[in-house]
Amino acid sequence: NFGVFTLGDALITFNPSDTGPLRYVPNFTRKVGGAELNFAIGCSRLGLRSKWASRLGGDEFGRVIYNFARGEGVDMTDVEFVEGYPTSLNFKEIREDGSGKTFYYRYQSPILTMAPEDITEKMFEGIDLIHLTGVFLAIDSENLAIVRRVLKIAEKRAIPISFDPNIRLKLWTLEQAKAAYMEILPSVDILLTGLDEFELIIGDTSKESLEHCATRFGIGQLVIKDGGNGARVYTDGVWHQKEAFSVTPIDTVGAGDGFDAGYIYGVLHDWSPEETLEFANGVGALVTTVSGDNEGLPYLEEVLALIRKEKIIER
Ligand code: ATP
Repeated sequence: NFGVFTLGDALITFNPSDTGPLRYVPNFTRKVGGAELNFAIGCSRLGLRSKWASRLGGDEFGRVIYNFARGEGVDMTDVEFVEGYPTSLNFKEIREDGSGKTFYYRYQSPILTMAPEDITEKMFEGIDLIHLTGVFLAIDSENLAIVRRVLKIAEKRAIPISFDPNIRLKLWTLEQAKAAYMEILPSVDILLTGLDEFELIIGDTSKESLEHCATRFGIGQLVIKDGGNGARVYTDGVWHQKEAFSVTPIDTVGAGDGFDAGYIYGVLHDWSPEETLEFANGVGALVTTVSGDNEGLPYLEEVLALIRKEKIIER
């Protein structure tokens, strides 16, 4: 079985009881979020071995995240509790159409205590792919040094890198983001991005510009996620495209992380670009049908049932 590695911060997410502006929402449900953790859970539910490296607050909420991730079968060997750094929080606002906004309460995130020396070769034993995101880079400028170390070990061990820019302009400026991405991109084998993000980073989303970016940075698979329009990939000089599945979205947050997990699953199993895109679209679509960032992440048989248009018999 294939093993994936990711690293990043996790947060307690408070999901609103009602749609509409946050200031009118009186009740919230406590959930767990974080782009990289969502990805790790997504991979685990699909049946991959999934390792998440992180730091959690030595507090009640830190334990909630730890137990939740462990319950999902995520390998927690490289997760440590840190005293004096409270677990980060965020509150969601969800609009009637399923779109949302996030209000962060993240100051001294526990992951700020992670240092490049904490990244050791041993962490990558049995790992077939490393997934990185821009969120980890955005949280702290020092995290680039940690990522450099990960990339060095990946190169030495010939482990492919997937990267989702997941641009968060609340956490850093566009200039800072671009500078970090330009350094990372030459090491990236699979880039998983939205067109809006690509436009912010590269400036032009024409076909030529996308192809030029893939060639310039040596990106083997340039994947464009396009919400309700599905996704496409540019690989080996050819474009492949797949339509999205028709679902009724309730909460679209986390669809991109789920898509990433699905896409990596296909790549690791050496599926064709079309099969991989279809599977990833299936994971993304199913995530949107459930409230919460990771609750909707499907198990393998659920994605396969969606693709084969089969009904899962519940009783
Ligand atoms: P995130 O908000 O999680 O960062 P993203 O912008 O990275 O999301 P999207 O393009 O919104 O990612 O969605 C990722 C994938 O999920 C899409 O490519 C598609 O396969 C699926 N998806 C998203 N929204 C819908 C939808 N409304 N209907 C069907 N599939 C969807």
